[in-house]
Amino acid sequence: MDLSCPILELPNIGQQRAKKLNGMGIFTVEDLLTHFPREYDDRSHVCKIKDLVLNEENTFIACAKGEGETIRIKNMTFTRVKLYDETGSVFAVWYNQIYMKKAFIEKTEYLFKGKLQKKYGKLEVSSPEYEKADIAMNKIVPIYPSVNGLSQKIWRKMIGDIIYRTKGQLKECLPHWLRRRLVFEEFFLLQLGLLLMKQTLQQGKKGIILQKQYVISEFEKKFPFTMTNAQKNVILEIEKDMIEGKVMNRLVQGDVGSGKTAVAMTIAYWTIQNGYQVALMVPTEVLAEQHYQYFCEMFEHLGIKTVLLSGSLTAKQKKEVLQQIASGEANMILGTHAVIQKDVVFSKLALVITDEQHRFGVRQRGALSEKGENPHVLVMTATPIPRTLALILYGDLDISIIDELPPNRKKIDTIAVTPSYRERIYHFIKKHADMGLQTYIICPMIEENEKMEVQSVLSYTESLQQNQLKEYRVVCVHGKMKSKQKQEIMQSFSNGEIDVLVSTTVIEVGINVPNAVIMLIENAERFGLAQLHQLRGRVGRGSEKSYCILINEGKNKIAKQRMNVMQKSSDGFVISEMDLQLRGPGEFFGTKQHGLPELKIGNLYKDMAILKEAQSAAEEMLQKDRHLELAIHEDMKQKVTALWQNEQLSI
Ligand code: ADP
Ligand code: MG
Repeated sequence: MDLSCPILELPNIGQQRAKKLNGMGIFTVEDLLTHFPREYDDRSHVCKIKDLVLNEENTFIACAKGEGETIRIKNMTFTRVKLYDETGSVFAVWYNQIYMKKAFIEKTEYLFKGKLQKKYGKLEVSSPEYEKADIAMNKIVPIYPSVNGLSQKIWRKMIGDIIYRTKGQLKECLPHWLRRRLVFEEFFLLQLGLLLMKQTLQQGKKGIILQKQYVISEFEKKFPFTMTNAQKNVILEIEKDMIEGKVMNRLVQGDVGSGKTAVAMTIAYWTIQNGYQVALMVPTEVLAEQHYQYFCEMFEHLGIKTVLLSGSLTAKQKKEVLQQIASGEANMILGTHAVIQKDVVFSKLALVITDEQHRFGVRQRGALSEKGENPHVLVMTATPIPRTLALILYGDLDISIIDELPPNRKKIDTIAVTPSYRERIYHFIKKHADMGLQTYIICPMIEENEKMEVQSVLSYTESLQQNQLKEYRVVCVHGKMKSKQKQEIMQSFSNGEIDVLVSTTVIEVGINVPNAVIMLIENAERFGLAQLHQLRGRVGRGSEKSYCILINEGKNKIAKQRMNVMQKSSDGFVISEMDLQLRGPGEFFGTKQHGLPELKIGNLYKDMAILKEAQSAAEEMLQKDRHLELAIHEDMKQKVTALWQNEQLSI
């Protein structure tokens, strides 16, 4: 069987399954073969029913009691089977799988694996995997990530089958002087790609040269505060790049509230004074609107024309804005990814800033810098990652760090509580509303289903409006709303016309309402710590004491430890470091959010040493052969090109 063979030609893969796999980027036998397990399940460890842990995956052996029963609600069916062992019983529930009713032979032991959850007040194991215990016992089985609706059993069968069929066919692409395997190779390709991109960025391109003038220090005086030294230093670093004649590609890292907007605005002002245009791209409409207002406030009376490219413009308005951008009448252009669409033509674009960059990929950054003549690129992010790692992850960027918060920031009191505190918290919120202070509530996240997520926000809000917070102005906002509506709500929250804003995580990035002092987060255990830290950063922006309240429904030790970290630390770098240690890098370093190809096996945290080696090796390779022209590097060249197919590599 050939590695490049399309999966559709495999005996156990039909049209439907192939479509699913294609959707995950799996097209060939090789793709399937390199869909590596996330972890292995050691089935020699099983627990008794009485020891099942809520909200966790449990593996246990049990028999089924009689036939199951099926309930139909709307167009869903729920099939419930009672499982028992000598210590107790529990229900297993499957959705839309009526055949589960008769799936089990009586008095026969099966091994089950699934999450124990509380649904409508009842405990149940949701859609557990199962296998006859005599087959399943004492085996170590792979667990695949991103299963996409196919059971683990199917994955094991598909991949087990091709491992057998492709025996002896995997080809070595690393040259002989450099032999390591999977993790190393993966990191090597990552690093090599980044370095080749960097070469492209620097290659023979002349950067727009700006004149150093005193406008920077003049503009800094227009803020109602003095810039911190960290802000000043970063501004200097950026200024230096932009007067040197190279094309700037710089990442500015600064914790939530470190004042990145003021830095961006100062540099934008300077660039515009040099006669150029500046574009600022942000991940959400809400944030774009907020930045727009702030920039208008600061720029308009200085004669700088500021425009917003937003989804809520009418066709006519949009046309007008595009016209202003093309003619050069507009100096400062803000927006979401609308800014990089094809229809936007700039007249004299010199600087592109992306805020909260972790939401954008490398690719979009590339699309931006294709606008105009090699504009400078400034990327701002609050995702705090250790510097060494940042250097590697953003191998194609220079890095500046704002490592200081403005003075007199009040500490935000962070409290993690169990749901039983909810009534008391509502009381606390009312007390603050009576004093004219506002609250954010972040609703439980419902994974993988936006519709249900919206449902949940709506019903949560309704319940507050009708019960606990009846006399208060409670409004909800969520990602599925029209952008105009979202903006109106955010505006009235900002004006103090709403006491409590219930939201999904749309407010996560960048929002600045100094009068909001309480951040209540439901199901805090489901969020990454870096995300909790971002959310917390929405309060503590004014002169009043602020609070972050985390409702933790996670019972396990790690959930508690993670809440503890949030209570003890307010330093984004410490928090992300701890999150990594406690949770592993999977989610936080989901490389996708950094715009890198997804890692299949390398672990950016655990395999840091190999990552460093791979980085030096990639540098070494390019020293020997700058554009991979040697015959011994031919296979490598093909691999790296395939991996980074949409990027401009200097080969
Ligand atoms: P972030 O880095 O998270 O984007 P912002 O730019 O939103 O932070 O700034 C957070 C708040 O701090 C804003 O209200 C801003 O006006 C204020 N701020 C920024 N720089 C300073 C400073 N040097 N001194 C005092 N306040 C500042
Ligand atoms: Mg910001």
